[in-house]
Amino acid sequence: MALTMEHDMTDKEQYKVHKEPYYQPQGNEVALYEAAYRNRLPVMVKGPTGCGKSRFVEYMAWKLGKPLITVACNEDMTASDLVGRYLLEANGTRWLDGPLTTAARIGAICYLDEIVEARQDTTVVIHPLTDHRRSLPLDKKGEVVAAHPDFQLVISYNPGYQSLMKDLKQSTKQRFTAFDFDYPEAALEAGIVATEAGIELTLAAQLAKVAQAGRNLKGHGLDEGISTRLVVYAANLVRQGV
Ligand code: ADP
Repeated sequence: MALTMEHDMTDKEQYKVHKEPYYQPQGNEVALYEAAYRNRLPVMVKGPTGCGKSRFVEYMAWKLGKPLITVACNEDMTASDLVGRYLLEANGTRWLDGPLTTAARIGAICYLDEIVEARQDTTVVIHPLTDHRRSLPLDKKGEVVAAHPDFQLVISYNPGYQSLMKDLKQSTKQRFTAFDFDYPEAALEAGIVATEAGIELTLAAQLAKVAQAGRNLKGHGLDEGISTRLVVYAANLVRQGV
């Protein structure tokens, strides 16, 4: 018993966000997220790539003092990659929990980044975790994991990317409380770039202005606008004299 408790503790500690991530709020999203978390509502953070979705989730995990387990989803991902699988070993098999299962057991915030990238049969495994059941069936293991009271599911979703072939099922989407994100307005973005890259605010404002102008070209030759992430990268290069 003592051993399992110790194991639990270290697991949790390992996923804690120890240092406050720098996050510049764009509105009242911090208070809204706290309300969603209090009710353990599943959250969907919507918005274009590089606009601060992941940073926001990291910040909230830190603020709430909860462990955070992030999974970058891709098209090769299967349900086993989330839930877990049996491993073959010299003297038999051993079950290994996937990241979603670990999060449900230890009471972490599980952030599935770009969930649409995963195959649709993968996304349905999250359904029982998003309603009153708050459970995760491990079919292959014959176990149903009841989610820890602190567990919360968060997914990110980029509406711009989706084609008809690849979109979240309506039955999945409607299970989440949506947070609509977009690139920050010019003054906020300049502040973010200055802080992140450690450059002068006036220079950051110029770079942000270029990005804002570039975003207007979306659909006229540019598929995606210039993201805040890209502006931060550019600012880093400028700081180094490029
Ligand atoms: P995504 O929306 O793709 O998850 P990220 O959260 O990774 O984007 O943000 C990309 C980068 O942009 C971050 O690493 C950070 O430098 C910067 N950034 C964007 N928005 C913010 C913000 N509100 N506060 C602080 N940094 C931000």
